[in-house]
Amino acid sequence: MLAVAAAQLGYRCHVYAPEGRAVAADVAAQRTTASFEDQDALSRFTDVCDIVTYEFENVPTAPLAALNLGDKVRPGIKALDIAQSRIAEKTFFRDLGARTAPFAFVDSAESLQAAIADIGAPAILKTDRFGYDGKGQARIMAPGEAGHAWKSIGERPAVLEGFVDFQAEFSVVTVRSADGEVRFWDSTRNEHEDGILRRSLWPAGDAVTTQIDAARDIARKAIEAMDAVGVLTFEFFATKDGPVVNECAPRVHNSGHWTIEGAVTSQFENHIRAITGLPLGDCGVVGTRIEMANLIGDEIEDGNAILSDPAAHLHHYGKVEARPGRKMGHVTKLYF
Ligand code: AMP
Repeated sequence: MLAVAAAQLGYRCHVYAPEGRAVAADVAAQRTTASFEDQDALSRFTDVCDIVTYEFENVPTAPLAALNLGDKVRPGIKALDIAQSRIAEKTFFRDLGARTAPFAFVDSAESLQAAIADIGAPAILKTDRFGYDGKGQARIMAPGEAGHAWKSIGERPAVLEGFVDFQAEFSVVTVRSADGEVRFWDSTRNEHEDGILRRSLWPAGDAVTTQIDAARDIARKAIEAMDAVGVLTFEFFATKDGPVVNECAPRVHNSGHWTIEGAVTSQFENHIRAITGLPLGDCGVVGTRIEMANLIGDEIEDGNAILSDPAAHLHHYGKVEARPGRKMGHVTKLYF
């Protein structure tokens, strides 16, 4: 989706990916297949590119940092470093003055017991690194479940988070231009199932809209503190005490996919505009009601039938293997 937006603006993309079949390469001019740790391949790749960006937050930062690319890497290495570690991320937001779930770092069964004594149960244990879509997570409903939870996440460094009592989940998709202008898309209400985003809905409803201003203040402070250029997404819980930050993605985000049809300028186009130093486009909403639903696993097989609804726009990612829980595409329905 980024490569399509770039092509529309006259740019040619070169996709760097470790996997044999990277779907972005289907719509890009060139590709490199190499590990993110391959310093020589990375060096050759970044030499031939004018600007380097990423749409995966677990790109290792040390090999990139070693290349001293400065502003050539956008949104930036600092944003990656913060978002890759839940502890770094939560500490960053707490230091900015934002509300987070109560949290504690855990690196042994004993420290997990101590953290539960402190934070209480129910709580969620999440691996510090490499967790996404509910992976690397275990719910602890009572202190007696700690041992099982610690094993189930692979006994890896983790964060224990207190359970947040929320009315709704929402995100603030944010873009910052190269000259520091910050814009926001309107927030959708995000519904998750089994830790995976199911759908994003706009209008988001009062539980969310009353908290958007406070959430945007946090998003603006964060994107400026990271000195990031491009799109960053901040996920929040709407609680009776105001927005609680859950996490930040230093990239275009699934909860912003609706912007392709539902906004004057999509998150993908504005990301490309920002990183290439162009003026930002309007983030305003088009339409009166929008619904983005993910197609997970074999639901993609219903894709063509979904198009019998004239409000529906199908995005088929072209991934070959429809594993359970894998996001294979999405459908956005737009009503006027
Ligand atoms: P995450 O991978 O941190 O985005 O978590 C995936 C989903 O699990 C979130 O979107 C929430 O629905 C739920 N969740 C995560 N952390 C918490 C928490 N501390 N309290 C309540 N629900 C949570």
